[in-house]
Amino acid sequence: MSLTVEQRPLHVPPLEEVAVVLQDALCMNFDEVVVSVVECPDLRNKPYCLKGRGLCGSPRLGDVGGVPNLIPEVKMDKVYDIKKLAVSVDLPNAFIVGAGAGPHNFVGVNSELMANVKMGENPSNGSLISKIDAAGNYKLMDLPDSETRCALMLNMFASEGQAGKVLKIWAKKRTGDTNFVTCLRQALENHFREKPVGLGGTFRLVKGHAKCHVMPDFPSAPLTCDEDVNKWLCFFDMPAPMVFLSTLISKDPGLDLRVEHSHGYGDDCGGHYHYDTTPDTVEYEAFYNVAEFIYRVDRPKVTHDFGRN
Ligand SMILES: [Zn+2]
Repeated sequence: MSLTVEQRPLHVPPLEEVAVVLQDALCMNFDEVVVSVVECPDLRNKPYCLKGRGLCGSPRLGDVGGVPNLIPEVKMDKVYDIKKLAVSVDLPNAFIVGAGAGPHNFVGVNSELMANVKMGENPSNGSLISKIDAAGNYKLMDLPDSETRCALMLNMFASEGQAGKVLKIWAKKRTGDTNFVTCLRQALENHFREKPVGLGGTFRLVKGHAKCHVMPDFPSAPLTCDEDVNKWLCFFDMPAPMVFLSTLISKDPGLDLRVEHSHGYGDDCGGHYHYDTTPDTVEYEAFYNVAEFIYRVDRPKVTHDFGRN
């Protein structure tokens, strides 16, 4: 069955302008901040160890499925293949990073997905999942090269994975209440207003701890409000160093989007980013590129606005 695809161009300001906007906003929320435009380092190298060289070449965001596929009732048939999603966003040879739900038909249970997939020549899959084990602890697992599926939802950033200019963001010691990713998104929303600006890429929690959730196996009864969702999710305090795969968009242009979503992993932990819990010691480093388009793939027909934090 083919998936519905809607596409909208995004506002694409120069990186230098975005850097100034982010610098000014982050300074209100962190003690030390440097935002610059740099040549993207080879992200295949340590400490990022991603499958793509960089974040450049036809950069675009994809928002696939959504929370309505999970709640109130799970739609088990909502399984996607990232290889095919690359075709859906008109970039069959893409390097894709993102945050979604793991392939339950492979993992055996519901899970968090850290998507990191390179298509095209020498395809490879560096995706991981984090699931809840029988004892209630998180467990991190590599997915094999052959397993490029995800389920329910995926927020992804796709590009040709080339070298080029990107935003480098470094921030240390949080002085405000806003988390790192929300701070970036709100800065763009406050500056660019009605013009949607999208970013995708990766950030590292260099120092400190982050509150992350891991979805346990599918709920036995429907979840019908944020309170139900928060009781169902498993929350953990996870230690640096962690690498996150991240997307955000300043404004939803009427496509029922999840406006920010970041999943990450450390040596043996992984999950969905909420915020750091160590304002005094926290340090972030990020590389993002500005997306040219947003693709809305398999948008749920019935929607709601809970469970999206
Ligand atoms: Zn998530």
